[in-house]
Amino acid sequence: MAIVRFHGGCHQIGMSCIEIDTKKSRILLDCGMDPTNNAIPKVDENVDAVIVSHAHLDHCGAIPFYKFKKIYCTTPTADLMYITWKDTLNLSKSYKEEDIQRSLNNTETLNYKEEKQITEDITLKFYNAGHILGSASIYLDIDGKKILYTGDINETPTRTLLPADTDVDEIDVLIIESTYGSPLDIKPSRKALEKQLIDEIAETIENGGKVIIPVFAIGRAQEILLIINNYIRSGKLKDVPVYVDGSLIHATGIYMSYLDWLNPKLKNMVENRVNPFGELKKADNSVFNKEPCIIISTSGMVQGGPVLQYLSLLKSPKNKLILTGYQAEGTLGRELEEGAEEITPFKNKIPVRGKVVKIEFSAHGDYNSLVRYIKKIPTPKKAFVVHGERYQTLSFAMTIWKSLKIPTFAPVNGSILPL
Ligand SMILES: [Zn+2]
Ligand SMILES: [Zn+2]
Repeated sequence: MAIVRFHGGCHQIGMSCIEIDTKKSRILLDCGMDPTNNAIPKVDENVDAVIVSHAHLDHCGAIPFYKFKKIYCTTPTADLMYITWKDTLNLSKSYKEEDIQRSLNNTETLNYKEEKQITEDITLKFYNAGHILGSASIYLDIDGKKILYTGDINETPTRTLLPADTDVDEIDVLIIESTYGSPLDIKPSRKALEKQLIDEIAETIENGGKVIIPVFAIGRAQEILLIINNYIRSGKLKDVPVYVDGSLIHATGIYMSYLDWLNPKLKNMVENRVNPFGELKKADNSVFNKEPCIIISTSGMVQGGPVLQYLSLLKSPKNKLILTGYQAEGTLGRELEEGAEEITPFKNKIPVRGKVVKIEFSAHGDYNSLVRYIKKIPTPKKAFVVHGERYQTLSFAMTIWKSLKIPTFAPVNGSILPL
């Protein structure tokens, strides 16, 4: 009988890693890092393969620490993982360039819905997860037993991506994320969020100020660029320079090279000679002159990355900082979110006189979206809930069991259970 070992990502967001042991093989689903403390799961590097759902740090960040012989992911994920690993190398020096190269050399890529027998008794297939470019839900056929590991999912369409596939084959065991798993986690619509973002930007630009938008390089950056450029093109937002900085430039290049994997509307735009992401002007000293502008830069939690260089602009009450995602405890982003009057990104203190606002553009489905997702896919016989804070994980396990009548478990890190 196959068993499942939960190495990480239980009752937490970070360090996702699940091992499946069968009679004839051993594989890992994701091998991520905890972004808050750089912790990695303890695993045996002699497993037959690691299957990666997508290129975010909490799903692939720990791979270069190990000498895995085989890594499977989608084609865009392989390109994006390189950016994630390089960013990690630059920030923490925790592994070497040669570790990244070895990991890439051992990576084999698949398209969505392409089947591949990866060990004697396991066949693999990826479905679109709707979360970031190349993101996948992992479908396994283990000697006739069917497993779906959702990875991070979004069941609603965004400007960049089509919604997660729900036309999945039959499922015996579902392993599902629960980032917004509590019934209280109801998020505003995309449209409402966009309007809020544009109103905040317009207010500052009208007053002759500058807007700084810290973003995550993969996913968030591209969506923000799409929204801003769209409003500028349609004349609803004043045409001011939009500057970019950090690894989001490279990541956006990868988005542009995989148009077939994105929302088809983007491909149409390119065919009509519109660059959906705008011209990607690299930020330079001109961001400090008098003219109003928008600066989009990594890192998303204001924890290092080139965005730190622009924080001195917050000395002026005319300028504004817009946070676009979750800010973990202990990050400069969280300090700003909580109203810090003074920050120290480098040696000198900077008084914060500019306004700081947060508009959360999540790449995860909210509670209603998660429930809709489960109702749309074939009903599983059993479910495991992972990838959520404790309260979210437990609430969502309760939701699945009570209202959908599916036996559901919320394992902790270290749990070993029959599949
Ligand atoms: Zn993710
Ligand atoms: Zn994640």
